[in-house]
Amino acid sequence: MPNYEYKCKNCDKQITRFQNISDDPLTICPSCNGELVRLLSGGGGVIYKGSGFYVNDYNTEKKKQIQKEKTSATS
Ligand SMILES: [Zn+2]
Repeated sequence: MPNYEYKCKNCDKQITRFQNISDDPLTICPSCNGELVRLLSGGGGVIYKGSGFYVNDYNTEKKKQIQKEKTSATS
């Protein structure tokens, strides 16, 4: 289970939560009801992995498109 770090924009309080990936992220500070932002440290590996998947998907789509263009050009 990854741990997520949050920081309150309003009171600068930092919160660490152990959450499932499927759990909703915290958005509201429990002490002042201010807006929470998720920090990249701690859970950062998960986020980088996610963007890596995105890049891979993009490359695959591009390759498919090139193959399509080649096929239509030769036929
Ligand atoms: Zn707060």
